[in-house]
Amino acid sequence: MKQNRLYLLLGLAAGILLALLIFAVITMDKTDPTVLKMIEDGELRTGPQAAYPVVFKVEKGERLDIYKHDGKWYYVGNDKKKGWIAGWHTDLDIEPDKLASAEPFKGKTIILDPGHGGSDQGASSRKGTLEKDITLKTALMLRDKLKKEGAKVIMTRDEDQYVKLGDRKAAGDVFISLHSDALTDTAPHGLTVYYNQESQKALADTLHFAINKKTLLSDRGVRQENYQVIRQTKMPAVLLELGYISNPTDERLMNDKIHRQTVTTAIVDGLRNYFIY
Ligand SMILES: [Zn+2]
Repeated sequence: MKQNRLYLLLGLAAGILLALLIFAVITMDKTDPTVLKMIEDGELRTGPQAAYPVVFKVEKGERLDIYKHDGKWYYVGNDKKKGWIAGWHTDLDIEPDKLASAEPFKGKTIILDPGHGGSDQGASSRKGTLEKDITLKTALMLRDKLKKEGAKVIMTRDEDQYVKLGDRKAAGDVFISLHSDALTDTAPHGLTVYYNQESQKALADTLHFAINKKTLLSDRGVRQENYQVIRQTKMPAVLLELGYISNPTDERLMNDKIHRQTVTTAIVDGLRNYFIY
C-alpha cells in the first residue's frame, strides 16, 4: 500500500507541475508586448488620437519600447523620443479604425461665408487692405481644398458682391464665416474663434486647435458671441476672425498667399478631425 501512495503523490505532483506549466504558457501569451516595430513610416503624437500634434517622425523598421496603451494607440519611444502611435502602423497586428481610414468629407456639405462684400468692405487697414477681399480670397482657396477632399461646398458669395446677413445661410453640415478683426489700436493681433450655441462649441474648439497648431497667428481663444450668421443656423457654425487687419504683422500675413495656404489647410485638417471623431 505504501508503494501505491507514493505513486499517487508522484502523480499528483506531476499533475500540479503540468497545470502550472500550462498556466504559465497561457499567461505568457496574454502578456502585453513590450517592444514594437514600425511597418511603415509614422508620426508620434502627444496623445492617443490623430487630432493631437505630431512631435516626432518614426521610420519603417524602427523598434520602440512600449510604455502603455490606450485602445489601439501605444505610448512608445526610446531615450531620444517618446509619443503616441496608432497600432496599425506597427507589427502588432491591429486593425485600423474604420472611421480614421474612411473618407470623412464624403457626403458632407460645407457652407462658406466670406464676410462682407460689394458696398460693404468690412474692416480696412491704413495701407488699404480690405477685409472683404481677404475673406473672399481665403474662402475661394478653402473651397478648392474642400472640393478636392470630396466635400460639397456652398458659398454665400463667390465674387465681390453685397449679401445681407439674413441671406448668409444654406442647408448643410457645417457653416464657416470668415472675417478679420480691426481696432483703432494697432497693437492687438491674433486669431479668435466664435460660436453661438453650445452645440457649435466642439467645432469651434477643433478649428481653433487646428489653426493654432499650423499658423503664425497668435491665440486669442474660443469665445461665445451673439453674431447673426452663427445665431441664425442650428448647424455647427463658427465665425473665424483670422487676425487683425489693423495690426501690421497680421495684415502682412493676410496678404501673404503662403499664409493663406497654411490657414486653409489647417481648417481642412480641423474639419477632417471634426468629422472623424
Ligand atoms: Zn468682418
